[in-house]
Amino acid sequence: MPHITAIYPGTFDPITHGHTDIVRRAARLFDRVVIAVAANPDKGPAFPLETRVALAEEAVKGIEGVEVRGFDVLLARFVHAQGANVILRGLRAVSDFEHEFQLAAMNRQLAPEVETLFLTPAEEYSFVSSSLVREIARLGGDVSKFVSPGVARILAEQNGLGH
Ligand code: ADP
Repeated sequence: MPHITAIYPGTFDPITHGHTDIVRRAARLFDRVVIAVAANPDKGPAFPLETRVALAEEAVKGIEGVEVRGFDVLLARFVHAQGANVILRGLRAVSDFEHEFQLAAMNRQLAPEVETLFLTPAEEYSFVSSSLVREIARLGGDVSKFVSPGVARILAEQNGLGH
């Protein structure tokens, strides 16, 4: 069997239990999983790249074979640079499908030898998104069921609720 590296790209703004659920499943399937945190300045992320990387590192600490990297280049190029042949994405609901299908088709044009694979999270995370978690935290809601302690802490601090 060849050594297979899977790249899991995203904004991770911030990383949630939905993301880490996908990472845990992927870590059982692939030799190496790289969480690729996109700089994505066009999306105007709530957290700077270094913070998103640090929070992802904390969230996946202890899951064997998993690394976190920030990147600011074309994904197809990053995938090649990592010696990878799999792009991993998560599918929550049908609503994710159209966008994901378009991305997968475009990445196939750019890197024909790379396959995009999809995993689905446990049901309890199928409705979790980074933007919803940020919104709940901003309004003072408890997000500790959906994110790691480090993410919960920084969200609370950001909203002036830190201790
Ligand atoms: P992007 O800006 O690239 O969509 P995200 O961080 O929002 O970055 O998501 C990265 C990937 O993780 C996407 O494939 C997205 O569908 C998936 N994802 C996000 N939240 C969840 C979740 N709760 N469960 C499973 N997959 C998820």
